[in-house]
Amino acid sequence: MSPGRPSARPASAPEPDPTADQATKDAMSNATTVSPAHSASTASTLITNIAALVTNDPSSGDGSPLGLVQDAAVVIEGDRVVWTGDQSKAPATDNRVDAEGRAVVPGFVDSHSHLVFAGDRTQEFNARMSGRPYSAGGIRTTVAATRAASDRELEANVTRYLAEALRQGTTTFETKSGYGLTVEDEARALRVAAAHTDEVTYLGAHIVAPEFAEDPAGYVALVTGEMLDACAPHARWIDVFCEKGAFDGDQARAILTAGKAKGLHPRIHANQLSYGPGVQLAVELDAASADHCTHLTDADVDALAGGRTVATLLPGAEFSTRAAWPDARRLLDAGVTVALSTDCNPGSSFTSSVPFCIALAVRDMGMTPDEAVWSATAGGAAALRRDDVGRLTPGAYADLTLLDAPSHVHLAYRPGVPLVSGVWRRGERVV
Ligand SMILES: [Zn+2]
Repeated sequence: MSPGRPSARPASAPEPDPTADQATKDAMSNATTVSPAHSASTASTLITNIAALVTNDPSSGDGSPLGLVQDAAVVIEGDRVVWTGDQSKAPATDNRVDAEGRAVVPGFVDSHSHLVFAGDRTQEFNARMSGRPYSAGGIRTTVAATRAASDRELEANVTRYLAEALRQGTTTFETKSGYGLTVEDEARALRVAAAHTDEVTYLGAHIVAPEFAEDPAGYVALVTGEMLDACAPHARWIDVFCEKGAFDGDQARAILTAGKAKGLHPRIHANQLSYGPGVQLAVELDAASADHCTHLTDADVDALAGGRTVATLLPGAEFSTRAAWPDARRLLDAGVTVALSTDCNPGSSFTSSVPFCIALAVRDMGMTPDEAVWSATAGGAAALRRDDVGRLTPGAYADLTLLDAPSHVHLAYRPGVPLVSGVWRRGERVV
């Protein structure tokens, strides 16, 4: 059981790092820059009668990685969790919410999405489902639509898909540029993203911009030069699509190294469509995450097991391209930290549903329900190098998803069913 400290925020509480809409960001800002009396809310709330609480704290509850507590309660105060444990031992609070025997899990941490785009690719999907293979070139369709869109259109799209994700329990998300591919359009995408989350990734190296089709070296020079200078102030991360038809290992290394020199931390689209150098490059550069990891050699798995880099699996992409699944079981058995995310984008994975990805991972990738839920919460947090989200322990953000089910296992057991019946983000009920 977690220690009860209802009115104290642990000294080690991480710095706020809000991933929220503007209103919530403003509330967060107030909460951290003015006295508590002026913050959005410092009232304490007890959520009790929780049949099964996933804390992701192995020292809690059943001692499993999920730290599962039965007949549990959570106390939130302001934007933080301040107590979790057996409901019969919960401290007194200002407010009380009856979970009515439902399960509570940490808000999902979607560490990989591409939400700043315009247009859609219904026709491409329809054609692919009729037998045409996926190639990286489809990205150009979205690049053209995104460049043609107004700021307002891009903003409206991001807002719409974030609301969609929130309704499905996602409280933290990363999102990327990568559909602009000019200095102005990449910087614009990052500004739009940064209005909604701090987990913003510069992906100028998604594909070689069409204007540079005959001069990929010139495009790499732009991505590592003028474009990087314009984008770095708006981003935390730098990413590259290391793949045949996109960027090779040497180009990826140059791009990520240039980003690191500007203070951006690397993450890589690696080994999605074919074997390649991306995963081992990710480990070598201490990337937070190697994303996709569908085609791995034993040496790739060994490298991941020996480093800090998280393997982020994105089964929405394999689903939507009818591709072979990544082998989560092989990675887990090797001791690799695995995250599950949506890869939400209009081409290869147009889903914002983490529960859907959990169900796929359990059905087709060899994960247990417990492992899949962990990977979509604590795993996603690890892929963002965060310890203040993806868990429900004192000091963490009060990001909770209430399921209309008695157990987190129902996320895989009842695929396609909208089980999310409540969401708290930063201590406020938002669904
Ligand atoms: Zn992606």
